[in-house]
Amino acid sequence: MKIFLDTIGCRLNQAEIEQMARQFRAAGHEIVAAAEHAELAVVNTCAVTTQAASDSRSKIRSIARAGVEQIVPTGCWTTLQPKEAAALPNVLRVVTNDQKDFLVAKTLNLEPSNFDLEPIERAPIPGLHRRTRAFIKVQDGCDNKCTFCITTVARGEGRSRPLAEVIRDINSALAGDSKEIVLTGVHLGSWGQDFAHHLRDLVKTILRETDVKRLRLSSLEPWDLDADFFQLWQDKRLMPHLHLPLQSGSESTLRRMARKTTPDSFRELIKAARKVVPEIAITTDIITGFPGETEDEFSETLDFVKEIQFTGGHVFSYSPRPGTGAAKMKGQVRHELRKKRNHIIQEAMEESADSYRGKFIGQKMSVLWESITEFGEYGWRMEGWTGNYLRVSAFAPSPRWNEMDDVVLGEAGDGVVKGEIV
Ligand code: SF4
Repeated sequence: MKIFLDTIGCRLNQAEIEQMARQFRAAGHEIVAAAEHAELAVVNTCAVTTQAASDSRSKIRSIARAGVEQIVPTGCWTTLQPKEAAALPNVLRVVTNDQKDFLVAKTLNLEPSNFDLEPIERAPIPGLHRRTRAFIKVQDGCDNKCTFCITTVARGEGRSRPLAEVIRDINSALAGDSKEIVLTGVHLGSWGQDFAHHLRDLVKTILRETDVKRLRLSSLEPWDLDADFFQLWQDKRLMPHLHLPLQSGSESTLRRMARKTTPDSFRELIKAARKVVPEIAITTDIITGFPGETEDEFSETLDFVKEIQFTGGHVFSYSPRPGTGAAKMKGQVRHELRKKRNHIIQEAMEESADSYRGKFIGQKMSVLWESITEFGEYGWRMEGWTGNYLRVSAFAPSPRWNEMDDVVLGEAGDGVVKGEIV
């Protein structure tokens, strides 16, 4: 069968469709690059914002319009709205997050209990979701109850994937010529807590037992880390980049968000990281206009963002999600004010990201090329990432997708550093 895999949202969703691709291929099916060539499609949906939920529905409808007669919606929006998902055109079956591990077996009408296909080499998914870097799911669900978060509702309790399974997936990605492994989960930092281990143990084992060239950690909650954790960066294969969602720089707002961190403890953690890895990239997530956010609280967040000097990140205008505690809170902030505050934080974040990029001009750094565009007489324009998550572009006479090159960094513009391959 020709199968089209689509996803919206986080790296975990991407990791999951990559896993499904491997299983469908191992069962003898073909993964195609576009819906119009497919007999069946799986859509891994998202519910993190109202927009993401709406995009999930539109994707399913457009795949049906492309002529796919069998569609399997799964993921967070589908889990929260299974009836609505089942009512969309050409839906064969709805698979909620708790059943996602059996999606391929169920879709192929195979008995899940004896559906243990030999893991084959990772091959990038063709089309829009083609990635050089292999996103590896190591954990799912979350036991925290941040009041704005619908993910913890849609993904259920925290649970870790066994070490052996993670190592197997990494080796299949490396066998498939992946140059970078990105560990991902809903609450990555909680890996191992269900069997008295810590994420530190997983990282050490991966570095000891695999030939990974570049290992990157995706989003980590600050309260899962301590100063000793940063000793892991003695191994240069661990990419010097931390994504630590702060969400707010105001202690009172963080309390209403039920976040297990404070500006003081967050500041100390950043200091500890920069002490071990001075040039480490620190990116973050900020929510503006959280219910009850006063002008003073917003100023605290702005001042804190400027103080920490983040090297990049995402700024979200608060989006009330039905089923979360915050959606029922008093003091909902007007939409325009949420957007205005979002813009102000973005500007501050862009300023510190710019000055961070500026520190590396003239330096030679290793870049893994992720996207390529033919550029007529100039040859090929590549874009990719350095270890410390600088986005770099360069030209070359031939396409160098999934290749790593040493690049001398030049001027930066619009968030991209122009470089020259040496
Ligand atoms: S830690 Fe908080 S924000 Fe992150 S998934 Fe869990 S509940 Fe959501």
